[in-house]
Amino acid sequence: MSNHRVLILEDQPFQRGFLANMFNAAPGIATDTCGDAAHAVEMCHWRRYDLVVTDLMMPGVDGIQFIQALAAQEHRPMLALVSSASQRMMASARLMAESLGITVLGILPKPVGPADVGELLAQLELASADAAPASTAAEAPIVASRERLCEAISGGQITAWFQPKKSLDSGLVVAAEALVRWRHPEHGTLQAGRFLPLIQQHGLEPALLRHILKASVQAQARWREQGFRIPVSINLPPHLLERSSLPDELLELTLAHGGVPADLCFELMESSTTHHVSDYYAGACRLRMKGFGLAQDDFGQGLSSVHNLVSTPFTEVKIDRALVRGCARDPALHSALATVIALGSKLGLNIVAEGVETDAELATLRRLGCNQVQGFLISRAIPAETFGALLDQEKAAHRHTDLGHPDTRATR
Ligand code: C2E
Ligand code: CA
Ligand code: CA
Repeated sequence: MSNHRVLILEDQPFQRGFLANMFNAAPGIATDTCGDAAHAVEMCHWRRYDLVVTDLMMPGVDGIQFIQALAAQEHRPMLALVSSASQRMMASARLMAESLGITVLGILPKPVGPADVGELLAQLELASADAAPASTAAEAPIVASRERLCEAISGGQITAWFQPKKSLDSGLVVAAEALVRWRHPEHGTLQAGRFLPLIQQHGLEPALLRHILKASVQAQARWREQGFRIPVSINLPPHLLERSSLPDELLELTLAHGGVPADLCFELMESSTTHHVSDYYAGACRLRMKGFGLAQDDFGQGLSSVHNLVSTPFTEVKIDRALVRGCARDPALHSALATVIALGSKLGLNIVAEGVETDAELATLRRLGCNQVQGFLISRAIPAETFGALLDQEKAAHRHTDLGHPDTRATR
């Protein structure tokens, strides 16, 4: 465990001392405490904290106002919220903090126990490791001309990486989602969010879609040679369905590169919709008629409605991370998740949970009957070669456990 500085903000002296003792007992943690939010804002100004653990209900400046003040500071520590307030109030407070750009590591309902603190510190360790390289690479969107982008696409700097989807039945990687990455010569490997807005501005989404489809089919061919049949999902912004020939073009491209439509699934994203709703339904029907799979992306967040889910010929539903994160602790999220999974299974859909980061979330999803999981707990998106190596490794491990100990196969 590396060294971290933690500030505990709690107005009740007994609670404050109790929390401080638990944090101080962990190796590598230095703890300061404070009973007053206005004073805590000052402390955060003068000292660089990695984590602030704050109560919400406090006299004078309350926890919400404290978070708002914290967001205005140059260095924003990560947060953990402690409160006896309702779960929905806590969830709302979390969204408020996140929309101000503050990372919320956890929500701890009172009374907080040593196990909660242990889990929170494990998250802190993970998040700090993640943040370290990224903190120097600014989050600012990339600037590039249309020509530069076209070059990066045709030259292969912009390409597909693959995030594994693991079956909760077999415990094996059974599918992948293609996620676009740019191996930028100056800025390193860029996540989708850094340059997708540019791709959109320059009207290059159709070109990107074709490019990712081609890369996915090529990756599948490589994995097939290794002996694996891995269906791949590809993100499709629904407004592209306004072009009525799109399903025909996608089929032609797939076949031209030796791909199999049944092993490709288009994820209809939340980000856009067609001008005429009929184009959306026509496109969805025709993609299915060509033999492609069809997934509702990001279900449970934003626009995606239950009506849309039941009236589009989907084969899969992807449950958004907004419903997954914290589902093990939050009864409201847990109920929403149970309902979505029950609905998905009644509709005969493959149910995939996105953004699974903890063992507790995984266990909850398994109990609720989710089919597949995708998230940092299993793996981030990786290049096709690395994905292939992962498949080989998993197969070797599987064979080994099958021979030696038939009951001990990892089912993560
Ligand atoms: P999405 O379709 O919801 O994809 C999942 C995003 O969540 C990916 O980010 C993935 O890296 C990230 N993610 C996966 N597991 C976890 C986890 O456990 N925790 C957290 N916090 N995040 C996780 P990425 O690759 O940056 O993509 C962001 C969005 O950009 C995607 O969201 C998708 O809407 C869009 N996108 C990605 N690739 C493409 C593409 O090829 N074409 C188009 N049109 N859009 C794409
Ligand atoms: Ca997606
Ligand atoms: Ca999502």
